[in-house]
Amino acid sequence: MAGTGKIPYASQDVQEVQTLLRNLEGSTKKDKKSFSCKRTTFAAHGSPSNLTVNSWRFQDWDYKRDDLPTYARGIFTGKNEKGQPEIAIRGYDKFFNTGEVNATKWKSIEANTLGPYELSLKENGCIIFISGLHDDSLLVCSKHSTGPRGDADISHAMAGERWVDKQLKAIGKNRQDLARELRKRNATAVAELCDDDFEEHILAYGKDVAGLYLHGININLPEFMTYPGDQVQAFAAEWGFRRTDFLVIEDIKEVKTFLEGVAETGSYNGRDVEGFVIRCKAREKTGSHYSDWFFKYKFEEPYLMYRQWRECTKSLIAGKPPRFKKHIKITEEYLLYARKRLAEHRGLAKDYQANHGIIQLRDDFLKEKNLKGSDIIRQEYAAIGGAPQDVSNNIILVPIATIGCGKTTIAVALQQLFGWGLVQNDNIMGKGRPPRFTKAVLDELEDKPVCFADRNNAGKHERKQILDDIRIPRPEIRLVALNWVHSHEGLDKIRQVTQNRVLARGDNHQTIQAATDKKKVIGIMEGFINRYEPFNPWSSPDDGFDNVIDLDPTQESRANLETVIAQLHNLYPKLFNDMPTSEDLDDAISFALSEYRPGLRHEIGDRGPKNNRGNQKQQQENRAQAPKKKRPLEYMSVTLPKNDVLNAMGIAFASVSSEKAKFWRELQQFNRVQPELHVTLIHRASSAAYPDLWRRYSEMHAEAGSAENKLGDCKVLLERIVWDGRIMAIVVRLVDGGAGGWESVNKVSHITVGTRGPEVKPKESNDLLEKWLEGGGGDDSGIEEIAIEGRQIIQGTVKGVLSR
Ligand code: GDP
Ligand code: MG
Repeated sequence: MAGTGKIPYASQDVQEVQTLLRNLEGSTKKDKKSFSCKRTTFAAHGSPSNLTVNSWRFQDWDYKRDDLPTYARGIFTGKNEKGQPEIAIRGYDKFFNTGEVNATKWKSIEANTLGPYELSLKENGCIIFISGLHDDSLLVCSKHSTGPRGDADISHAMAGERWVDKQLKAIGKNRQDLARELRKRNATAVAELCDDDFEEHILAYGKDVAGLYLHGININLPEFMTYPGDQVQAFAAEWGFRRTDFLVIEDIKEVKTFLEGVAETGSYNGRDVEGFVIRCKAREKTGSHYSDWFFKYKFEEPYLMYRQWRECTKSLIAGKPPRFKKHIKITEEYLLYARKRLAEHRGLAKDYQANHGIIQLRDDFLKEKNLKGSDIIRQEYAAIGGAPQDVSNNIILVPIATIGCGKTTIAVALQQLFGWGLVQNDNIMGKGRPPRFTKAVLDELEDKPVCFADRNNAGKHERKQILDDIRIPRPEIRLVALNWVHSHEGLDKIRQVTQNRVLARGDNHQTIQAATDKKKVIGIMEGFINRYEPFNPWSSPDDGFDNVIDLDPTQESRANLETVIAQLHNLYPKLFNDMPTSEDLDDAISFALSEYRPGLRHEIGDRGPKNNRGNQKQQQENRAQAPKKKRPLEYMSVTLPKNDVLNAMGIAFASVSSEKAKFWRELQQFNRVQPELHVTLIHRASSAAYPDLWRRYSEMHAEAGSAENKLGDCKVLLERIVWDGRIMAIVVRLVDGGAGGWESVNKVSHITVGTRGPEVKPKESNDLLEKWLEGGGGDDSGIEEIAIEGRQIIQGTVKGVLSR
């Protein structure tokens, strides 16, 4: 099929792009009622003129708003040859499941869309965007990033680049050719990277079918404009992409019948599918014009139950025990019935294995029970306090983790954001802890919609305990597992990350100084890792959880927090109304990381005060507040937004050899980047040498009243990154420090970025920079440096930091 119709085209309007950028920029600032958009700058990989692009990312949930400047999921901007702003990459408009928003209710779809309807299977690789920049370089991006990642693993974008190179080579063309072609069309090619060698997804893509499946070509405009399926396929054929098949149906009623038919069996063309994406044209309301629009259709209950029945029946026939975790009672009844029928009719088993009679057997069962599938689901929900879409309380979050995964950090952040409950097992002392822990959690649920049951639950018996103690008396409560996945292969990295985190608690301060203490801590952590039993949704006790949210212990807690919130929102859309902005998430995490210090002593054996029987909240407040009065000022800090600093570093390191970037990669990989980045103005250790300054700062701090209160702003210019094999720092200049009168007593003002391990203290960057000043980084000093180009000035917050 060749592309027959007119090829969609429109050029970019600089004014329009400028307006878009202004709106995106505006939304990076904090405003409760508005959406918030995160900008990240990337070096365009392989660009001969060192072009950069900005990626703009909304929170997933913001796409349901009606006031976004663009609905593109995945959008990058840059500059054209005249230095004017342009859209470099344009993803699809975010699309929703049927019934998920008003526009995707079937009634509205029928009233407001136009065929032909192009159906494709819901993809299950990772999305790759490709376009051409004005210096003829080819820009290859994943949804929100491009170029190499700062660690050892290959990024999605780079994996995409490899495939593009491979397919272009096969047709005797090069990157420039494709870049020019896409630029001529003002278009972004959208493809799915399906490659098991790189990353396994649900469906298998062996060597012979791996590659980039082109599924769309979008025009680079703020509004959504995309090629029809046949033209996408024609482009794929011309440029060596694998093609995506589209099933074209003209009439919406037929589309609906087709989808419901596939849902009945859960399989299409002999393979299990998750759902479909449907492309068509839609108008906002009667009378407005039609433009490109997508929606998706995902299989839901009761079809998922039917699929479970089908799989269980096949197990029966194969003589294997059927496994199921949902709809337990009715499934057991169904299987009893199926067994009987299979015994009665010899031929049935054989037919069933060949996928015949599946629906018949199910319908016969339902007829005998005199029930419809939807009735069963409704009754099940009624028994447990409503359908998930109506649930707004009675949820317990149950971590499955080991020490240092970030449980408490996430819990405190959630408490900050939503006022949810938190019960820490560490605070429960004495005899009979498990039932008292459960009771404390249930008490919290009295007046809070969600409670975080902060305990490792690394072993199955602990999970069984909390599930049994709650399931039976309180069936309406939903238990959601937060599963910090510990795969066997990943254990070494998990050990590294969690040990570094936990030992770093004592890094600049006193908590864990002695080597014997370190040994003890690591010993206890190892104990949890050894006792850890992975979550298994197919067997007891873990099949007792209502839902599971998978998290990665080696990821920053900020990323895990976002996963938790996004998934809870998907599972229980009524749980919270106001979605936090990305700044809210940043703030909640930095609060949890810096202001809240859980006492490690509970974990290293000393069980702490004995009188901790009272209410949890009180205990927590005691802990957070009590030390404040006594804690003296440790140092004065200009605290910087971490992401901005990391971005500037990312760009600087993007243009050096991978050998040179090695230490930087390692710091990130092993989680040795400081949790919080700051310039120290003066440390208590120097108070004797600079008594006047120390007194001035101390007084200002005392006036401000509390640790959270900022004393002012200070702009910081990032100049160079300097490191040796032990420590890395950024040399900075306090811009108009004069304005606020801020000055640093350090010989070289700097930010300590990170150290090799907990044995290297951050304050050693003073020694590094002293040596650097003297030797200018001579060859034998082992000191390396790179400049940060383009006058990167970042606004920091001046505040006093108390000793711990
Ligand atoms: P838990 O044992 O699972 O409750 O882990 P915590 O939440 O107490 O975290 C362990 C330590 O790691 C604490 O000192 C946290 O401040 C720190 N931490 C947690 N998340 C992060 C993170 O994303 N980055 C860094 N650098 N430190 C973290
Ligand atoms: Mg903890």
